[in-house]
Amino acid sequence: MPPMKSFHIITFGCQMNEHDSERMSGILRSQGLVPAATVDDAEMVILNTCSIREKAEQKFYSELGRLAHLKGRDGKRITIAVAGCIAQQEGSRLLSRTPSVDLVIGPSDIARLSEMIEQRRDGGRPVVETGGDPEYHHKLVPAARTDGLKAWVSIMYGCDNFCTYCVVPYLRGRERSRPLQDIIAEVRSLADRGYREITFLGQNVNSYGKGLEAPCSFPELLCQVQEVDGIERIRFVTSHPRDLSVGLVGAIRDLPKVCESIHLPVQSGSDRVLAAMNRRYTSDEYRENVKQLRDAVPAVSLTTDIIVGFPGEDDEDFAMTLDILRDIQFDTIFAFKYSKRPNTKALDLPGHLPEQVKEDRLEQVFALQKEITLRKNRQHVGSVQEVLVEGESRKGGTLTGRTRGNMALNFAGPHNLKGSLVKVRITSAGPNSLIGDLCE
Ligand code: SAM
Ligand code: SF4
Repeated sequence: MPPMKSFHIITFGCQMNEHDSERMSGILRSQGLVPAATVDDAEMVILNTCSIREKAEQKFYSELGRLAHLKGRDGKRITIAVAGCIAQQEGSRLLSRTPSVDLVIGPSDIARLSEMIEQRRDGGRPVVETGGDPEYHHKLVPAARTDGLKAWVSIMYGCDNFCTYCVVPYLRGRERSRPLQDIIAEVRSLADRGYREITFLGQNVNSYGKGLEAPCSFPELLCQVQEVDGIERIRFVTSHPRDLSVGLVGAIRDLPKVCESIHLPVQSGSDRVLAAMNRRYTSDEYRENVKQLRDAVPAVSLTTDIIVGFPGEDDEDFAMTLDILRDIQFDTIFAFKYSKRPNTKALDLPGHLPEQVKEDRLEQVFALQKEITLRKNRQHVGSVQEVLVEGESRKGGTLTGRTRGNMALNFAGPHNLKGSLVKVRITSAGPNSLIGDLCE
């Protein structure tokens, strides 16, 4: 088989997967392959998969079916690689299910991608690598980022929390932090290449530093990155409420580059459900965390994740979830129906709920939050916000960017503002974005 020249990556799931795709793209480009705009133009297609909920898994299997059908039709040669969480979960079972798959590569094995491609070419047999490189967090894998302003930077991999519904610890392994000096070196090199905003990625960024040879906490990491010239904004996802420290609240308050915005998944408003989820905080402790945050940083923007229809969730439990949404008044939420995941403890809990009940509850959550979000967005009208200008808006005609609170904002202005920080006065607010006038 001659060497391949082009590739296309389809990414499912979260920012971590998006970033892993950037890394795989970086590896392939360093080998001389070029990205193809569509599957039809590519000699290699990578499906970077997500297994967090059943729906994400179904989407992947239908895409894989389509690709398998394409392969071999009209003599089309195409190498199919499956990466990400489903690759890790299914391993070689994927080959028996879909024999057209050539490579199966787990999230902690992507540094071996080129080697695997060569192995496939030379040996002629499909290659499966899901063993998980124990040194992955020490590896400097190139990343091909498409945005020239904002960059994701992983600071840790895996998770030790074992929430009873969640498949992540089984597929992404135990928590491993990247050494501080590697992260700082990556951020410096991004700043040198013109990047202005960094988003640190990890399943539980607040516990960054566990197990590092040279101890370092997450707030200490933020302090060090604050000193990197050229970087104007620092964001991070995701924070576990149990590990929200006084140090982190202080860092958001005191470090000018750390944006006043935090994603703090509450999941449920019922203590009974939170305990069954193994979240290890109560709804009152969560409220107290939010109070401390808002006392210290009144303008903080707060977003969350909600799961409805967890096994055993009764009407009263669900009412408490609606209550916490009303009490806290999140800026935005992400809400999901509980989905059964392989190997997780929640599978064996009593009281699994019918799909229709979950559906109804999800609709109620969305309806309530829609009002709250619109009301909160309207509270910004009249205020002046700092915006990092990202370029022309999707619809065209205006510029677009994000506030420090991570709200999308559109306004008229000259194109050469791309990449600058400007002040914009908010004139109106919709459910998903703000509109404003550039301040002189
Ligand atoms: N590590 C983060 C945390 O603890 O908040 C988030 C990880 S997960 C990729 C993102 C969200 O997916 C979770 O916060 C949770 O709301 C949701 N999720 C995870 N497993 C789920 C499941 N089995 N069913 C429904 N939603 C789920
Ligand atoms: Fe999953 Fe919980 Fe870990 Fe988040 S903290 S990745 S929800 S186990």
